[in-house]
Amino acid sequence: MSGVRAVCFDLDGTLLRDDHVDDVVREAADEAASRFGLGTRFVDDAVHALHAYWFGVGESPLLSTVPTDGLPVDVWRAVLAAHGITEPDAATAAYRRQIQLEARAARLHDESLEVLVAARQRGLRTAVITNGPSELQRGKLATVGLDGFDAVIVSGEVGHRKPEPEIFALALAALRVDAGEAVHVGDNQIADVAGARAAGLTAVWINRNGAAAASDPHHTVTDLRELLPLL
Ligand SMILES: [Mg+2]
Repeated sequence: MSGVRAVCFDLDGTLLRDDHVDDVVREAADEAASRFGLGTRFVDDAVHALHAYWFGVGESPLLSTVPTDGLPVDVWRAVLAAHGITEPDAATAAYRRQIQLEARAARLHDESLEVLVAARQRGLRTAVITNGPSELQRGKLATVGLDGFDAVIVSGEVGHRKPEPEIFALALAALRVDAGEAVHVGDNQIADVAGARAAGLTAVWINRNGAAAASDPHHTVTDLRELLPLL
């Protein structure tokens, strides 16, 4: 690629590991179970439903009542309701606890820092474009000590989420580069790959788990280090 001036990174599953999420949900669900006198079946249902919601892997009949644009708190509400808990603040409390625990549990992938440093040493501008609530995504960045980005665009702050082109346009404006001068790397084939492509950026799919391709990335890598020779 020539003429690259900026690299945008997705956060979850790209710069950060995302294999701790089930444990975080289990801990938040355990606390809700204690509060409402629920058993392990509730905890298992919560872990299963939120895993299916985030990763699109596995099926949870409880998700049938959650709209496709539903939020994690809606998943908590559905799981709690299925176990007879309809108190108005129950889902919000469980979700808020999950956010707290999740922000604290954030961990970088091994190569993330090295790749960010290398990109910056080459004079490239760097950004994060991430879907999620402000408190959670900013909390994760603070936990892992990631800073120095030229732009951090969080869907919960800007009112647009990937794959919407507006969120990529906001990042490009903050970076002061054109779409043709920017690369976006992410693990989600819809939000990151299709979104970046539609917005005119070079789309790099990071496929850490050998998933089947269901999108049309310009490049595919299995580790962020493979990004560097492409820049
Ligand atoms: Mg991701």
